[in-house]
Parts: sequence; structure tokens; C-alpha cells
Amino acid sequence: MNVKLLGFGALTPVLLAFGVAVAATGSGALDPVASSIGCVAAIDPSAPVNQTIKDLNATQLGHAKTVYDVSVEMKLPPRAAVVALATVAQESYFKNMANPTVPKSMTLPHEGQGADHDSVGLFQQRPLPPDGEGGWGTVEELMTPKISAMKFYSALKRIDGWETLPITVAAQKVQISAFPDAYAKHEPLATALVALIGGGAVTCQNGAVGAGGWAKPVPGGINSYFREPGREDHYGVDLGGTRGTPIHAASSGIVLIAECNGGSNCDEDGSMSTPGYGWKVDILHPDRTVTRYGHMWRQPFVRTGQTVQAGQVIGLMGTSGNSSGVHLHFETHTGAPANNANAVDPLPFMAARGVTLGKSG
Ligand SMILES: [Zn+2]
Repeated sequence: MNVKLLGFGALTPVLLAFGVAVAATGSGALDPVASSIGCVAAIDPSAPVNQTIKDLNATQLGHAKTVYDVSVEMKLPPRAAVVALATVAQESYFKNMANPTVPKSMTLPHEGQGADHDSVGLFQQRPLPPDGEGGWGTVEELMTPKISAMKFYSALKRIDGWETLPITVAAQKVQISAFPDAYAKHEPLATALVALIGGGAVTCQNGAVGAGGWAKPVPGGINSYFREPGREDHYGVDLGGTRGTPIHAASSGIVLIAECNGGSNCDEDGSMSTPGYGWKVDILHPDRTVTRYGHMWRQPFVRTGQTVQAGQVIGLMGTSGNSSGVHLHFETHTGAPANNANAVDPLPFMAARGVTLGKSG
């Protein structure tokens, strides 16, 4: 921000919480020491705002959830999280920003760099001397999303009537923002995020995104490979087993689809002339990959929108849909929604996640 912060405890009208005038000028490039939390949201992408949320990566969504969770811990109404998330959207676009002007910030986990004075972190708060000329806290505190959010909310609470102030009015009131509308334009996104996170539609995984926490869906061997010669339209691997073998979620995530695919009766065994996957489940994982499970026996045990844990039993092996015998048809996709274009060979996909498919046991 452009304004020098007074002591954080001072009851200045400042409310420099909003003093966040100028958008962070982050490079946008992911830094190798990015934060470790990763979240994923179950979204109906029909609303434009949900398209925006869909474009947030797992780390950005994780920061949004952290900011929301702090509002709950501090027993603040949802409006506080809307104001905070609109501010974060404007200041850093949900990236924990370091600043080369504040060398210490560069040594802490971050996902981008800003160069606005000595502002750092999600909220672009200015650190105390000697690292900066602000009053919000130490560099370590401001680069810790949870603490920076606590500081933001503490400041927000000191504004009389903050609960009913439009975001843009608040910004104007403090006369710090050169672009008072800048916060308000993020209000629909912030509101949608609060609804999603507050409604439990966001699931998070600690640890490095996409690393660890992957499991073998079934123990059986491989009957058919990904796009093998003569079956170029086979976008998965077929894993063998007997009817009723439990199928496990390859990793934690959200069920995008749990359906009878193809239009035939999925409770009957399929054939080579039966269309579709039969009983089918798609799961979206925190690293924004999707795993797909086809030809299940009976209706899956999970439903669309449900959160699942790695290894959770989601259904039973069968031969519904376009299938000539009992097996699990397993696909891996590098994006959502899953389609043939983003299907990749499950063997290297799973190997990269520490799981070797096809070995019995
Ligand atoms: Zn198959």
C-alpha cells in the first residue's frame, strides 16, 4: 500500500486494512517454495463466477480457505470473510507475495513477487522496521496467511459499522485507495467463495500438492493398456479382479460424477454392444487431476459433490456398460472436466505419485 501504517494498535480511522490501494504487481510465476496447502472445490461451472473460481489453482484456493477459516475462528460473520477475500483478490489474487525490497520475505514460502513499496503477503501489509516502514507485524507474520488474515480482521473490527459498509464505500472512507472500485469488483467472487467454503464444498489436503496420498484403486493386474495398438480409443487401463472387488479412490478429492453412463440399465451386466462406462465415478483431486472408474457393479457408494479420502471404497468391480467381462476401467486426466484430450496413461501418472499399477497384492 502507499500509505505508511501507524502502529497497528492505534485506533486510527485509517484502517489501513483497506489501505491496500495498489494491486500487487506479482509476476504470477510459481515459485519453487510455494505454500503447501492445496484445496479443490466442487463447482457447478455454469455460473460465470464459478468459472473464475475454477481458474484458481489449489494453492490459491487453499489461501482463500485459510482466510475464511480465520473469520470463523474469530467468530466473525460471513461478511467479514467477503471483505477479506475481496481485498485479497485485489491485492495479491490469492498468492502469498514476497517482495525483493524486503529480502527476508524472499526466504519464506511464496508464490509470487510484488514490488509495491515494502508490502508483502496475501493482504500486501507493510512490515515493521527494520524490514519495512509499516506497522502490521513482522515479515514472518505477514507472510503467514493465517496470521496476516488475523491482523486484517482485527483491523476490520475496529471500523464502526463495517458489517453494513459496502466494500467500495469503506475503501473510499479511508481515502487510501486510488481505485475505490477495485475491491468492489471482486465482491461476487468473494461472496461465491464464502458460500462454497462455508457450505463445505471445498476440500483441502495438507502437504505438497499432488505429492503423496495416492493409493492403488484395485490390486489386480493389467488386462489392457492405455491406447494400446488396435485400441487407440481406449483411454484407460483395465485392471483385473473378481466381481465385487472393492474399488478405492486413488486419492482424496471431490466426486465430480457418479452416474449410470451410456443410457442402458447399469444394474445388468453389459456387453460389447452396450454403450458407455456403465456405473461410473469421476473424482477431482487437489492437484486438479481427475481419476475415472468405470463398469462398476451396482450403484457407486459415493454421490456427486461428496468429498472422498484416498483409499476410500467408492464402489465394487463389475462389468456394466461397454464391457465384456469383470474388470475396473481406470483413467487418469490432467484436467477437469475429464475428456479424451486430457487423458494420460495411468501407469506413468500413478508411478509419478508413488503407485505402481498392475502388480498383484
Ligand atoms: Zn477399459
